[in-house]
Amino acid sequence: MPFSLVRADITKFSADAIVNAANSSLLGGGGVDGAIHRAAGPELLEECSLLGGCETGQAKATKGYRLDCKHIIHTVGPIWHGGKQGESEQLRSCYRNSLALAESLGCASIAFPLISAGVYGYPKREAIAIAEDEARKFLADHDMEITLVIFDTDSFEISAERFEDIRQYIDDAYAKLRDDSDRRPMMAATVMGSDPAAISNDEPARPKKKKGIFGRNKKTESAGSAPCEMAEGAEEASADDFFSMRDESFSQALLRLIDERGMTDVEAYKRANIDRKLFSKIRSDIHYKPKKQTAVAFAVALKLDIRETEELLSKAGYALSNSLDFDLIVKYHITHGIYDIFEINEALFKFDQTLLGQN
Ligand code: ADP
Repeated sequence: MPFSLVRADITKFSADAIVNAANSSLLGGGGVDGAIHRAAGPELLEECSLLGGCETGQAKATKGYRLDCKHIIHTVGPIWHGGKQGESEQLRSCYRNSLALAESLGCASIAFPLISAGVYGYPKREAIAIAEDEARKFLADHDMEITLVIFDTDSFEISAERFEDIRQYIDDAYAKLRDDSDRRPMMAATVMGSDPAAISNDEPARPKKKKGIFGRNKKTESAGSAPCEMAEGAEEASADDFFSMRDESFSQALLRLIDERGMTDVEAYKRANIDRKLFSKIRSDIHYKPKKQTAVAFAVALKLDIRETEELLSKAGYALSNSLDFDLIVKYHITHGIYDIFEINEALFKFDQTLLGQN
């Protein structure tokens, strides 16, 4: 996993390098800096006092002492003054210089706190976006395991109203599920052998015989094949549609959808928060089976509606169920037309779920 986001205390984290959001004196401070100094022990301050401070955007290394790391990389983030004083470029430098230093020290893994997003006041969402973007750029031509360690759920600024709304949506879905299961014995008696609630999250979903992205696309006809167009309003897919649905793999469907939506591959994998290497794998292996969060990330990137999302997921053997928080949170956002992956990830993070787009 080249880039991941976890919730943890960075002083308890294990990596070749742990990054400290220091101040320019490098002599310790509050927040994560104070926590790192306390956990590493007084020898850290001794070594830091020999370094002669550090400028904003720069990075300097010490030993790890009592932390579970070989090196502590001290970097000084910008103080937020409203965003027009070069803060973003300075914050980017913190990540770039820390990563370059880690590489020169031979580190295979590195963990960052959310630099500048505490006392220095950098808006958390932008700070996370910069961290992710710089990690991704670095990983395009380097190998390193990069982790962004988020300390508290408040780092994601999802509003109280949206949080409540999502919670209500989840509660309603669970209540409906309970009602349905109370009624099920009767339904089983009337509809022999069919159990509408039986579709499981990891069970391959059967292709639906309904009009949809996989059943009625004229542009995707291979050269020479007869166009298979459905009559206006037809609900059932033709036999040809059915077989094309069966034959198209996730990878083929994805690449076709990217073209149809007029996106470039780069736009698609960036919007999906997927790294280039993973995208190349999916591209070159038509039988590639992505993780569910990867498949959902592409559905979001492509702005598929809920039925189209289900269809794309079914190509990888997944379905969205009403009995999993992850699935319900995804459904909530798609049905509300929210396709910003960061926004969805904020909600997933708040509810302790796997985030979209990681691999
Ligand atoms: P800055 O001065 O750069 O803003 P802070 O230490 O005040 O640095 O905050 C940076 C980020 O580190 C904040 O998002 C804060 O929540 C987080 N943080 C504080 N303590 C820890 C810790 N023990 N582990 C990981 N992150 C932490």
